[in-house]
Amino acid sequence: MIACAYCGKVDSPLPSWATFFVVNDNNLCGRCAEHLEKLESPWCEVCSRPMKENGICSDCNRWESSAKWAGLIQRNRSVFQYNEWMQGYLAQLKYRGDAALADVFARNLQRIYRQQFDRCLLVPIPLSEQRMSERGSIRVRL
Ligand SMILES: [Zn+2]
Ligand SMILES: [Zn+2]
Repeated sequence: MIACAYCGKVDSPLPSWATFFVVNDNNLCGRCAEHLEKLESPWCEVCSRPMKENGICSDCNRWESSAKWAGLIQRNRSVFQYNEWMQGYLAQLKYRGDAALADVFARNLQRIYRQQFDRCLLVPIPLSEQRMSERGSIRVRL
């Protein structure tokens, strides 16, 4: 029996053969998985914001018209809607160090990368010293 990676509950209190052979690829119970709102087209072609039809959202248009920000972001893809539930989920992942929660994004990010960013180089974005301290990350000195 596998407990939900987020709330710790088990979907079925009675184990069955399916419990051992059915793999839930996001390690979440059914109740938590219901909150995952996958982002899909139609959306902003730059930032993934849901829209009535494909295009560029008002924020991206505003940033492109700014001399300071123009041309900095070509395309950003988000996997899920940043709803209230996702806000709590990300807080637990980022600020309480529950790295197992990142699994929910892994398969979807791989798919998006292969479909939309093929031949692009992935570059990690470093945190500031302050953010690193807030999140309690372990620092490795080389
Ligand atoms: Zn759950
Ligand atoms: Zn946008």
